[in-house]
Amino acid sequence: MKVLVAVKRVVDYNVKVRAKADGSDVDLNNVKMAINPFCEIGVEEAVRLKEAGTASEVIAVSVGDKSCQEQIRTALALGADRGIQVETDGNVEPLVVAKLLKGVVDKEEPALVILGKQSIDGDNNQTGQMLAALAGMGQGTFASEVAIDGDKVKVTREVDGGLQTVSLNLPAVVTTDLRLNEPRYASLPNIMKAKKKPLDVYTPEDLGVTVTTHLTQLKVKPPAERQAGIKVESVDELVDKLKNEAKVIS
Ligand code: AMP
Repeated sequence: MKVLVAVKRVVDYNVKVRAKADGSDVDLNNVKMAINPFCEIGVEEAVRLKEAGTASEVIAVSVGDKSCQEQIRTALALGADRGIQVETDGNVEPLVVAKLLKGVVDKEEPALVILGKQSIDGDNNQTGQMLAALAGMGQGTFASEVAIDGDKVKVTREVDGGLQTVSLNLPAVVTTDLRLNEPRYASLPNIMKAKKKPLDVYTPEDLGVTVTTHLTQLKVKPPAERQAGIKVESVDELVDKLKNEAKVIS
């Protein structure tokens, strides 16, 4: 069984991002980039399926410019067998990513496609759902447990009321939640080995997709600065301020 895992290049989650001075975008100059954390969980899950003998091959795919090959190589160092880059000019919107991933699905015919539930830069939470719709596959989103069961996959999902388990026919799309697993670190020998693993590059045209734009980013601005706190002398003063200044109690 082939497993396809989508990995997105994003700003590392430890970095405090800044907006560009002209407010046109987030400033990516000299910023550390990484695999989107939910995608890393996806790679880990796929590699565990391979180690368990359930998956025969794990393919890591990323959509973006050449720099996203760095994140594909990280996925290869974590245990994926080969990589695919779909070459675009930087970031493209989720619908286009979904169409391009559908093109890769048509070529590779994986039994399982794993994506992160959300990319931490755009917070879109759209690509997995749109890919499932375009490919006519069932979707198990926000997975906290994944178990292959013959020609089906059982996905336990974190929903408001607790845990919901669904059974999907394969091929299917699964998106990962935080508690699905704890990703491993790549060892130095595996980082070296990853450099030799195959990595194919496709253009959108190779996949029969025209890259279009349906939305325009108008402005990016940082959140309002928190104001400095003050020290009060007594409980009475605190109550007075909460009542008359902050107006949070009456
Ligand atoms: P989003 O819908 O942008 O929140 O992304 C959800 C998931 O879709 C991510 O965690 C990735 O697995 C996948 N994805 C989104 N954008 C890309 C991309 N450019 N390349 C590869 N995978 C992507």
